[in-house]
Amino acid sequence: MDEKERLHDENIKKAAGGGAWNDNRYNAVYGIDESLCIACQMCITVCPLGCITYSPFAKIDDSVCIRCGSCSDICPSGAIGWWLEPQETEEEN
Ligand code: SF4
Ligand code: SF4
Repeated sequence: MDEKERLHDENIKKAAGGGAWNDNRYNAVYGIDESLCIACQMCITVCPLGCITYSPFAKIDDSVCIRCGSCSDICPSGAIGWWLEPQETEEEN
């Protein structure tokens, strides 16, 4: 299991426990590649917070997403991916 897979597993475990995904170094951000989306709407069905809308393609509201990974797990076309963005720090110099 590589680092990305490990963090993905952590996402799911933390989301299942009711907590938003959080890591001191990164935020996980989920996104949908419209060119791969086949409009099945399965992701909308499984999203626990209803933060995926569909018009005309599926789109994730990142301000609501808890990074559980359910949508990317169920997507039959591999249209939903995620990446890590470094967290902004409040370091003042
Ligand atoms: S599950 Fe995947 S293919 Fe289906 S609507 Fe969602 S993003 Fe598109
Ligand atoms: S990772 Fe996907 S299923 Fe989970 S909350 Fe975010 S948009 Fe919804």
